[in-house]
Amino acid sequence: AAKQRGKNNRVRYHDGMEQPVLAHARIGGELRRALDEGEFRLHYQPICLLRTGQVVGIESLVRWEHPTRGLIPPSEFIPAAEATGLIVPLGRFVLREACRQAAAWLAEFGPESMQKIGPNVSARQLHDPDFVSDVRAILAETGLPADRLVLELTESAVLRGKQVLRTLNELHDMGVRLALDDFGTGESSLSLLRAFPASIIKLDKSFVDGIELDEPGTPEADARQAVAHAVAQLAGALGLDTVAEGIECQEQADRLLRLGYTLGQGYHLARPMPAERMTEMFAGQRQLIAAGRGR
Ligand code: C2E
Ligand code: MG
Ligand code: MG
Ligand code: MG
Repeated sequence: AAKQRGKNNRVRYHDGMEQPVLAHARIGGELRRALDEGEFRLHYQPICLLRTGQVVGIESLVRWEHPTRGLIPPSEFIPAAEATGLIVPLGRFVLREACRQAAAWLAEFGPESMQKIGPNVSARQLHDPDFVSDVRAILAETGLPADRLVLELTESAVLRGKQVLRTLNELHDMGVRLALDDFGTGESSLSLLRAFPASIIKLDKSFVDGIELDEPGTPEADARQAVAHAVAQLAGALGLDTVAEGIECQEQADRLLRLGYTLGQGYHLARPMPAERMTEMFAGQRQLIAAGRGR
């Protein structure tokens, strides 16, 4: 099996090398340096109950705090990190930092402050033979209970093969939850959904954009509503939770509630923020609760 794995790795390596080799080698070096220098940061975005705004979970989103270029968004370096393989050590950092921070919030603000932390995970990480043992070690080291961790995976990441499914089943058996990110944009199939041990479906932002528009005979808006509704029903039938992504106004939240969603994420609810801001938010909530009890 080891031999087979080695062979597969070589094939994937070559696939990656079909990208412009020099450009990737250069950015690969830059990313390596940034990782060693500690330039990557996590921001955190709440996932909320649509009805009340209560925070029930948090997604972690990586940023690169570049010494001269400032804060760089993931779209500008994740693809290169994936192509060069740097995503494996970077992803390990993300996982460890997200778990460490979540365990600290739980310790300071209690189990009701946030139920889950959701780091994003790339396909390449799932193919790393050490991934499951890394997750197990990070949970042990940070003290975060496994059922507080939700790994966000895209459909394309989980599509590829039996080995990945085995990895996902091992994580599931440990108690780690899995979320299908950007749902509806990939090549998802019903058989994938059935085989895949997911707990959560995240409806992609592209179905939320414009979903509040209600002019009769706007086929685009109608189609988005139909998809959003069908996904909610499908999730319900399969016993999965749903989160609607990219909610930018109250009208979208209202519409999604009516279409069967209870959880959402987006600028209208809360923007991604540095850890310190999130801590302030939890501290503010605690004061509110304490004031309520005092009355
Ligand atoms: P994603 O996992 O689907 O994350 C949601 C993205 O939508 C985030 O962008 C977030 O800032 C943005 N967003 C949230 N609410 C709204 C809204 O209301 N309106 C708009 N316009 N945008 C909203 P971000 O942080 O730039 O991340 C982009 C993507 O990069 C993520 O999409 C994810 O696929 C990837 N990514 C982020 N962090 C990591 C990471 O640590 N590891 C890996 N492998 N990928 C990551
Ligand atoms: Mg995500
Ligand atoms: Mg997403
Ligand atoms: Mg997305």
